[in-house]
Amino acid sequence: MQDDTIITGPLYASRKKVYPQATHGTFRNIKWGLLIFTLGVYYLLPFVRWDRGPNLPHQAVLVDLPGRRFYFFFIELWPQEVYYFTGLLILAAMTLFLMNAVAGRIWCGYLCWQTVWTDLFYAVERWVEGDRRDRMMKDKKGWTAQRIREVATKNFLWLMIAWWTGGAWVLYFNDAPTLVWQLLTFTAPAIAYTWIGILTLTTIVFAGYMREQTCIYICPWPRIQAAMTDEWALNVAYERDRGEPRMSLKKAEHAREQGAKAGDCIDCQQCIAVCPTGVDIRHGSQLGCIQCGLCIDACDNVMKEIGRDPHLIYYDTDINVERRAKGLPPIYRPIRPRTLIYPVVIALVGSIMLLKLATRSDLFVDVMHDRNPLAVQMADGGVRNGFTVRLLNKQPNERKIDLAVSGAPGLQLQIVGDANGRTVTVGPDQTLELRVLVIAPAGQTPLAPVPVTFTAKDDTGTRTATHADHFFPK
Ligand code: SF4
Ligand code: SF4
Repeated sequence: MQDDTIITGPLYASRKKVYPQATHGTFRNIKWGLLIFTLGVYYLLPFVRWDRGPNLPHQAVLVDLPGRRFYFFFIELWPQEVYYFTGLLILAAMTLFLMNAVAGRIWCGYLCWQTVWTDLFYAVERWVEGDRRDRMMKDKKGWTAQRIREVATKNFLWLMIAWWTGGAWVLYFNDAPTLVWQLLTFTAPAIAYTWIGILTLTTIVFAGYMREQTCIYICPWPRIQAAMTDEWALNVAYERDRGEPRMSLKKAEHAREQGAKAGDCIDCQQCIAVCPTGVDIRHGSQLGCIQCGLCIDACDNVMKEIGRDPHLIYYDTDINVERRAKGLPPIYRPIRPRTLIYPVVIALVGSIMLLKLATRSDLFVDVMHDRNPLAVQMADGGVRNGFTVRLLNKQPNERKIDLAVSGAPGLQLQIVGDANGRTVTVGPDQTLELRVLVIAPAGQTPLAPVPVTFTAKDDTGTRTATHADHFFPK
């Protein structure tokens, strides 16, 4: 006797090739709109200019690795401010969780780069090889001269898109117009060609060949979101109570004439034909469903043709699918703890980041005490401590910075190699590293370590930065 709890089938199902059919309707239009917007932003953003003054780059979004800066329109982040990226990551995660709480995998269906590029690659495939039926027939027929031509054309166009995808990525790391010219004249740095090569390859592999397999087998998000979602989240769902028992149009007419129940689903399989992951949504929620809504469009078009009400497939909650099956009216609960907590966290983290940005200083001082020796006894009985001080001038103009130390009576500050005293000049948008000695004169040396404060003040007297450290007597 076979135990039903033991899985006896294979653990891996070989891939069935998916031939998604073109469709039209509301969700397809939304997806086209988002595809054009997201790809437009990605490909064109490096060319947007932003005037920051004479000494700074004019690219609106730039990761300046040699200069160790990140520019985003009016924001300029230094390596010391990397915590902003932590804030951005928290915001991104919370937004994803909120999307999940409201409408399941809408990120996957509309905005994920895998979906967007796969959609674009499918559009190219359809344009070159024809729609679902043509592609299936051609695949069955095998290789002919026309087939070879089509496959070569498709791969060439894919390669161009993939190449430009990799090309656009490197433009975020250098002045875009300059780098485009260097790339065209083969004078760009080798690292740019290497990254373009890597991203061309990954784009074509993931969006052209792996397609839905990336979502089903590789991406962790479907598993995570399945554990995070609840029965109140909207998901693409088939209204089983209305659709079943499914039968052809003719059989349904006959059944209804006989007074028997016939569902609205005519089993035309259009919902499966348009699905980019090959899912039959009539079997309920599945890991493969990316919630793109294309089956809704396909089924609505069928319903319109046969004169039945739309939305046999639609965004609905698990609760309502069950309630409808029991003949109960649907209920919605958009306001729930999770749809409140995520926006609150987003607002909180966003506000902290904005506040930090609005009040961030354009003068910064960083101090590091010498480790060995901590203190040096001088011949006249005084004690000196050595420090490395780094001054950051975040303004696009040169500034004179006055450096002082306080915390114990009589402390004197000396900049090594600077006979002019305690004032130094820091270039526009630059850092300056100094060797500094703090001296406690004889008779005023503290008996134990004392906290001291380094203060940097610019020549306008309005900007001050401080850093706390210690002075050690021995
Ligand atoms: S498209 Fe609609 S009618 Fe056709 S099989 Fe799917 S659910 Fe049934
Ligand atoms: S089942 Fe429908 S919503 Fe889910 S992936 Fe397929 S077409 Fe998109």
